[in-house]
Amino acid sequence: MQIFNDVQQEIARKIKPESNISNWKDWKWQLKNSVKTIQKFESLTGIRFSEADRRLIDKTLDRFPLSITPYYLSLIDTDNYQNDPVFKQAFADINELTVLKTDMVDPLSEDTDSPVPGITHRYPDRVLFHVSNVCSMYCRHCTRKRKVGDIDSIPGKAQLLDGIEYIKNTPQVRDVLLSGGDPLMLSDSYLDWLLSEITAIPHVEVVRIGTRMPVVLPYRITSSLIDVLKKYQPLWINTHFNHPREITASSKEALAMLANAGFPLGNQSVLLANVNDCPRIMKKLVHKLVQNRVRPYYIYQCDLSEGLSHFRTPVGKGIEIMESLIGHTSGFAVPTYVIDAPGGGGKIPIMPNYIISWSTNKVVLRNYEGIITTYTEPESYESKFCDRNCNECNLELQLDEADEQKGVGIEQLLSDYDEAISLIPDNNERYNRRDNNGG
Ligand SMILES: *Cc1c(COP(=O)(O)O)cnc(C)c1O
Repeated sequence: MQIFNDVQQEIARKIKPESNISNWKDWKWQLKNSVKTIQKFESLTGIRFSEADRRLIDKTLDRFPLSITPYYLSLIDTDNYQNDPVFKQAFADINELTVLKTDMVDPLSEDTDSPVPGITHRYPDRVLFHVSNVCSMYCRHCTRKRKVGDIDSIPGKAQLLDGIEYIKNTPQVRDVLLSGGDPLMLSDSYLDWLLSEITAIPHVEVVRIGTRMPVVLPYRITSSLIDVLKKYQPLWINTHFNHPREITASSKEALAMLANAGFPLGNQSVLLANVNDCPRIMKKLVHKLVQNRVRPYYIYQCDLSEGLSHFRTPVGKGIEIMESLIGHTSGFAVPTYVIDAPGGGGKIPIMPNYIISWSTNKVVLRNYEGIITTYTEPESYESKFCDRNCNECNLELQLDEADEQKGVGIEQLLSDYDEAISLIPDNNERYNRRDNNGG
């Protein structure tokens, strides 16, 4: 697999006859020549749509714009494009115009859980910081489809400063996740400024970047970018491979540059019908990822965003995939399968069931092979009452502010130090009746 193969050479020459490998590997050239129209797509791939199809695709593009880097386009198998996982992720489908009653504009309530523009603060100790509204390739399955192609593409310094100010004033934020759009659409110098501002905040312990560049525009990973990012360790980088076909010579080179620079790499896949809804494809993908030093992090159930219904699978498909991975392959090759809760509840892990039954001294479990086994629980275990006074605890953890921390949710119910015995929905009629009776 070469970095500039025959297909890529042909595409480059169609774009401009004198184009060569150094143009091809120039990320700005790739961006400038991104495919945004049906006509250009047809002329570069040789694929032809009927007049009727073209009209429908045009209608789709009015709503959700197209953008494909020449590099990602070159991965499409033009002889069998209807079944091609790259084509399906990159090229408009008229089904995107189908909106189900259960679809939502902002299923994860990211705009609702936003204290200042650009920040989503959902979990206690970390925030999502949207630092760009654009991407080099518009994934057709984008969960933020509502924002794709926004005119104010890169937020100005003033908006970013508001986000930075929020993080500064919120001491519980120890992890800042740069997202977008794609943060690596920002220039090296802008990223340099942004990262220097964020990492200067004393309570920020780690920064993460979520980017699809290694997949759709691996040439964005340049040595000058690495020089900038390296200044801000610990920096974690998550990317988004969905299919083993996306792991090419070029993407391997980009991943190697990032791994060699010392960034822990993770991958977030989305489970997509007719793209990767297959245990064998997923197993191949996770194996190729770990070979390239990328830890599979999440598999997402496809969100309820408008226009994604043709991509969704039943949850059972994800469980079937997890069943085929856990135990069957290396633990570090197994991602966590999650549903990002509609309404903004955050990511909820989904697993096959391994606990079959339980008594006071035994747990009955099954393994991946279907063997049923028992684990006998200790008789000698003395449970300790935890009052969060860590200084007197024989586990010897000195945690000064432990007594000020509050248990949240189920953690609170399990704790000794909190008296709550149940969590009751606000609108529970029975409880409301009690309140009204002064009870
Ligand atoms: C996914 C996400 C995070 C990070 O979640 P992790 O499970 O820590 O990776 C943070 N904030 C928001 C709003 C998210 O959607």
